[in-house]
Amino acid sequence: MPPAEDAGAPAADIVLDGVTVRYGGAKAPVTAVEDVSLSVGAGEFVVLVGPSGCGKTTLLRLVAGFERAAQGDVDVRRPVGVVFQQPRLFPWRTAGGNVAFALARHGVPRAQRAAKAAELLERVGLAGMAGRRTWELSGGQQQRVAIARALATEPQILLMDEPFAALDALTRERLQEEVRSLADATGTTVLFVTHSAEEAVLLGSRVLVMAAGPGRIVAEVPIGLDRGAADVAGLRATAGFSRLRGELAVATREAAGA
Ligand code: ADP
Ligand code: MG
Repeated sequence: MPPAEDAGAPAADIVLDGVTVRYGGAKAPVTAVEDVSLSVGAGEFVVLVGPSGCGKTTLLRLVAGFERAAQGDVDVRRPVGVVFQQPRLFPWRTAGGNVAFALARHGVPRAQRAAKAAELLERVGLAGMAGRRTWELSGGQQQRVAIARALATEPQILLMDEPFAALDALTRERLQEEVRSLADATGTTVLFVTHSAEEAVLLGSRVLVMAAGPGRIVAEVPIGLDRGAADVAGLRATAGFSRLRGELAVATREAAGA
């Protein structure tokens, strides 16, 4: 179904319409995702969930502009910030230096970069850490730097590809909470990829379920979770969470059987 094009309606931040992405040459093409349509409104927090190989990363890279669609239309509001599973920091730069590099690429004048980098690091819980070398930082701290770097372009859209998958459980919970409140506070649109159904329910305002062979969206589950003041651990203990977690499991199972 084509996206709505009411003249009066606010434009979505991300619109994919009948998109297919293939890898490899003409001789042995791999269809990574086929005929995918989705629309993410401004300020929405949408989670893509699905098993390994179903095309989650491909869709994110497409939205980021790193891949091209073989078919279909891609419409994305810029700028976007991207956070990957691995932080991919420059090891020869400090935490602040990594963020400053992104600021430079964004056109921020040299004289403003250090202060702005410190401010961004503070926003992700790394106040006073700008001078740290990357090897002095824990995995969670490195991922915080990567988030600060992504925020350097003041993105309208944040794209996150399993950003917490490599972190220990406690660090993951903290970062989940922080990304959620950051998104709420700034109104940033988030497209978040995970293979964890639990993480999808905890974070998303809407979850899109994907299946492989070829990659496609097979179900959509709205997450009307009252987050209130609860932290992630508290949220997980609520009846609302259990119900939605169950709904998502059913949708995933039905989709797999379809
Ligand atoms: P996910 O992130 O859900 O694990 P991917 O988007 O990484 O899935 O991959 C989707 C499909 O595309 C898989 O079958 C994968 O093997 C294939 N694929 C991904 N990247 C490439 C690539 N660079 N070249 C060839 N095939 C690829
Ligand atoms: Mg992936």
